[in-house]
Amino acid sequence: MIKNNFYIFLAFCLLLTGCRQKSAVKSEFISVSIEPQRYFAEKIVGDKFKVKTLVPNGSSPESFDPAPSQMVDLGKSRAYFMIGLFAFEKVRASNLSESNPEMLLVDCSKNLICVEQGHEGHSHAHDGHSHQGSDPHIWNSPETALVVAKNILQGVTQIDPANKNFYEANYKKLEKEIYETDSIVKQKLVNLKTRQFIIYHPALSYFAKEYGLEQYTVEFQGKAPSPSQMVELVNESKTKGIKTVFVQPEFDRKNAEVLAKEIGAHVVEINPLAYDWKEEMVKIAEALEKQ
Ligand SMILES: [Zn+2]
Repeated sequence: MIKNNFYIFLAFCLLLTGCRQKSAVKSEFISVSIEPQRYFAEKIVGDKFKVKTLVPNGSSPESFDPAPSQMVDLGKSRAYFMIGLFAFEKVRASNLSESNPEMLLVDCSKNLICVEQGHEGHSHAHDGHSHQGSDPHIWNSPETALVVAKNILQGVTQIDPANKNFYEANYKKLEKEIYETDSIVKQKLVNLKTRQFIIYHPALSYFAKEYGLEQYTVEFQGKAPSPSQMVELVNESKTKGIKTVFVQPEFDRKNAEVLAKEIGAHVVEINPLAYDWKEEMVKIAEALEKQ
């Protein structure tokens, strides 16, 4: 009888742990703010976690505001890897940690020297020296992307130390890919006729800094330019012989097209928020090479 009871008890225990394991696996996901972070995170975690992106395609993370249901879902993540420099992240971070003490919050801009907004080469001919904080586009250059990837590695290792070696090996492969991307980009930018380019929204500040380029923006302090600012930009662009105007899907391209026509430049659509980080980096370099 005692023996029988013991087996029933044992079976019950097995059933319990079985169920618990199953439900734990189901909720094992990590979250990131934007798609290029998912590209890095997926390469590091492999099949150990599902990776969810908070900011949907077509939204600009600078003006993004998560819905309450998105915040609830985000709180169920094992870890949330934010860029750390977007307004919505700064507003939501402390509350998110307080209501989800089990969730690890990782700032991907940790250990990075940021470019100040409005000071990336020339944001505009005369930007009035406005200080809007650190430029958030840290994933758009191999050097800074490497820091983002390293912060993801550290966070993942913290929540799942048992698989440390697996994550580190994956990170090494990603690091190699980032270095390869850097040499492809470098090669394409070696003999540029002009090292200046125009972009609607200043997404390439870190890219410009890393490769000795100058970024001019159509957008002025996050807003469409005034007619006088446009005239100023046209004159400056003509003087510098700028031949490329980048536009991004989240922003209005009308002003950029008017400007390009005026100065005889090509409009090139890029998407620095796309998932395939490497493809996008190479595409930007190729556009500059062809100008
Ligand atoms: Zn942006």
